[in-house]
Amino acid sequence: MYKSFLIKYAEIGIKGKNRYIFEDRLCEQIRYALKLCDGEFEVAKTQGRIFVNALTDFDFDEVVENLKTVFGISAICPVVKLEDEGFDKLCADVIDYMDKVYSDKSFTFKVDARRARKNYPKCSMEINCDIGEAVLNAFPQTRVDVHNPDVMLHIEIREMIYVYSVVIDGPGGLPIGTNGKGMLLLSGGIDSPVAGYMISKRGVKIDAVYFHAPPYTSDRAKQKVVDLAKLVSRYSGPITLHVINFTDIQLYIYEKCPHDELTIIMRRYMMRIAEHIAAQSGCLGLITGESIGQVASQTMQSLAATNEVCTMPVYRPLIGFDKQEIVEVSEKINTYETSILPYEDCCTIFVAKHPVTKPNLNVIRKHETNLSEGIDALVQTALDTDEVIVVE
Ligand code: ATP
Ligand code: MG
Repeated sequence: MYKSFLIKYAEIGIKGKNRYIFEDRLCEQIRYALKLCDGEFEVAKTQGRIFVNALTDFDFDEVVENLKTVFGISAICPVVKLEDEGFDKLCADVIDYMDKVYSDKSFTFKVDARRARKNYPKCSMEINCDIGEAVLNAFPQTRVDVHNPDVMLHIEIREMIYVYSVVIDGPGGLPIGTNGKGMLLLSGGIDSPVAGYMISKRGVKIDAVYFHAPPYTSDRAKQKVVDLAKLVSRYSGPITLHVINFTDIQLYIYEKCPHDELTIIMRRYMMRIAEHIAAQSGCLGLITGESIGQVASQTMQSLAATNEVCTMPVYRPLIGFDKQEIVEVSEKINTYETSILPYEDCCTIFVAKHPVTKPNLNVIRKHETNLSEGIDALVQTALDTDEVIVVE
């Protein structure tokens, strides 16, 4: 029965005169999401509202499921559009609508009419009363409750007349691309895909960088990261993924530095390289999946040590999340099953039995000078052999 959806968006306060940028980005992201659906659609901006109109047959559930991946949508309202063929016909159509949508009629309702076309012969109050009465007469089990109705029946009188009452929650947030771009350090773990999801929820477009260490890490491990990027891109839009060969850098650190500091020094080189690529690709910050205290490299002291090498802001959207909370989000966005596949990660291969948990920055800096002879050339080679994969 539906051919259209009214799309509601949140955070009106921030829009002001930039509203059109926000709306245009939202329309673009909606079109991107609908590409995954069978059928043809038109996304139209009319009088400050966004409508998705189906031009062909479509699968209702599939469309709703895909619209739920579009950040910036606060609610999805399936809407029936009627020609204006007089008030009696409108009442009959509304009764027919209520009958189809609500098989159980024991609910309370309120009519909320809006008359955008002022030449309509009844004012909003009259429409509210008269349609309310028509519905009550048709379905005596229903009751009106103007304060806390189960069903809010919206009637909007425009060129056409819009009727809707079903409100499906959207994901909230802001449309991708309204808040610049960030570089996600994406590993094959549970946390970083969730971090990417969370930051893109705030309208940030993401690029990603993955450090792999062949032959210590396999092609399957790399494919897993590509797969994770693909799952995140359902929400974030296309992701440009940089795959950096980290093997020689890792081996060099292993050779020259104390093994209990390996992870920290390695993480510092990851951040340096990520920042370099980020700056080149116009990113305004780095994003990681770190959360305080989760592992040795994520204590306050360790985070301070990895943070120190960056001048760009490092965003850690999971910083206050417990593991279980992160797992819940990863299940919701469908990355969990892929994340737990048991492929080796470049961080775990050279990991010490007892890594430092309270690294001393002066000591770390001093040990990094052991690398001064060869590290710059290795970093340069890693950057030169950057493999770029566009994932969507
Ligand atoms: P995750 O589940 O995201 O892998 P983790 O709990 O395994 O996180 P660490 O291995 O300490 O934690 O990594 C912390 C963060 O560093 C990750 O969330 C990710 O942002 C980044 N990171 C770690 N390893 C890599 C890698 N091989 N490539 C890119 N980024 C990485
Ligand atoms: Mg990891």
